[in-house]
Amino acid sequence: MKIGILDIVALPARGGFESVVRMVLSKQFAAIMPQAVSVWCQQLGHRTHYATYYGIGDPYDSLPHDLDIVFISTFTHASGLAYALAKLFRRDGALTVVGGPHAKSFATDCLRFFDLVVKECNRALIADIVGGHYERGSILSSPPPDEIPLVEERVREIKIAAFAHGRRYFMTTIPVLSSAGCPYDCNFCVDWDKPYRMFSRDQLVRDLRFIADRFPGAIAGFHDPNFAVRFDEVLGALEELPAKLRPRYIAESSLSVVRDARMTRLRDTRCVAMLAGVESWLDYSNKTGLGRRTVGIDKVRHVAEHFRALHGHVPYLQAGMIFGLDTDMGDEPVELTCAFMEQTPFAWPTISTPMPLAGTPVYDQYVTEGRLLPDLPFAFYFTCYLVATLKHYEPIDYFDSLIRLAEHASSHRMLARRLASTTNWGVRAIHWARTVSAREDVRSYRRMRQLLASDRGFLAYNRGESTVLPELYHREFEALHGRYAALLSRDDRRPVLEPRADLHPLGRTGAQGRGAVRVARPPEAGKQLA
Ligand code: SF4
Repeated sequence: MKIGILDIVALPARGGFESVVRMVLSKQFAAIMPQAVSVWCQQLGHRTHYATYYGIGDPYDSLPHDLDIVFISTFTHASGLAYALAKLFRRDGALTVVGGPHAKSFATDCLRFFDLVVKECNRALIADIVGGHYERGSILSSPPPDEIPLVEERVREIKIAAFAHGRRYFMTTIPVLSSAGCPYDCNFCVDWDKPYRMFSRDQLVRDLRFIADRFPGAIAGFHDPNFAVRFDEVLGALEELPAKLRPRYIAESSLSVVRDARMTRLRDTRCVAMLAGVESWLDYSNKTGLGRRTVGIDKVRHVAEHFRALHGHVPYLQAGMIFGLDTDMGDEPVELTCAFMEQTPFAWPTISTPMPLAGTPVYDQYVTEGRLLPDLPFAFYFTCYLVATLKHYEPIDYFDSLIRLAEHASSHRMLARRLASTTNWGVRAIHWARTVSAREDVRSYRRMRQLLASDRGFLAYNRGESTVLPELYHREFEALHGRYAALLSRDDRRPVLEPRADLHPLGRTGAQGRGAVRVARPPEAGKQLA
């Protein structure tokens, strides 16, 4: 069979700077699972065409139009584009299958546009799909895979995803995975109830050796939700390579994991970038390794101290922070984050608002409290827009706070301090690019604020006082999706939200505890619902 696999990692770029960011940076965001699906289908004897869409070119033309099956992976913000493409490929006669983060959260909505929706998959499930064992209109899920195809098995896909014109460039990142799940249970995170488990250590060593041998100079990008929770085992695998051969790597981890003497091992194994989640100055203190009582300015001091120590070993640091939580109130969160920026100019602060993705306790809570903005298309599920009413902020105050935060992060003074904090030209270039990008965010937030202040209907909707989706969103939708917007009617854009899953807001229900896995088997008759 002729099978296409498309990994959508961004919406179409709008304008020059966005195009550069998409080509240089977003291109490297390709996920591992679509690559695994491509390899598994080849191993099953099929011809595969793998492509990624990172906002440049035409995603429909990136695959042949005479496919038997097309797999599309998408995140929620880009799901409109995936739906439009599903219409085109279905018209061409392909069986359409969707997977990735959006399918995991909003399977029911996906089913309006795709023949099959895959929430979690392994090789056996993919074999059953291409074997034609499922009826159209099915939502499928399997136990997670025990192993992912090796880097050497994914070379073709990696070159398509991470190379430019067939050649490696300075940002080329080879996706690797040493674990899945996470021991923490942050209530906004889709991994909150996924148990941590490490993949094969031998496979990791083999992947790293292959990268060192075949792609010298490339960066290994760990896609683990929380890197090196079993620190000694993962770092031990990295240390098996002679120091000179070790590939540079980037990873996302909790501060509680990357502490004390471990930092030296990060440096010695060539960790060049660490993305660490701080989240809030009032909550989630366990993942920073601090007790629940260390909050506010005390937490800022401790976390800044931790970042300073880490910076002595890892050249590039990112601090992930969220704003708009129910614990956030007044100016304090903004002031604390600005204070943190002042103390850690070498670390780039990412500031976002957690999206209510189905399957998370936050989603359940927002549904229960009726806080989700009605009929809001998924295309607006990102920080430039409000998706739900906030507990302690009026919409205008919320955008005022975001403006303050982004202005502070991208000020000339902070840029000068960031550039002075390092002699590494690559880190300087990234600080510069992210500063420019944050200034774009300021413009977006200002525009939203201005619309809220000038359009009473828009303000009423964002305050949860009106259930009528303002016309403005349709214009925005059309601008975001370019020529693909015309394929999606207004009904298509209106999401079908998942019902509440009855998750405990601060823990897990007995029925849905860690390790609960729904297994999909070929149905004897009728729909197989996960
Ligand atoms: S620590 Fe990170 S990966 Fe783990 S639950 Fe929290 S946000 Fe998710």
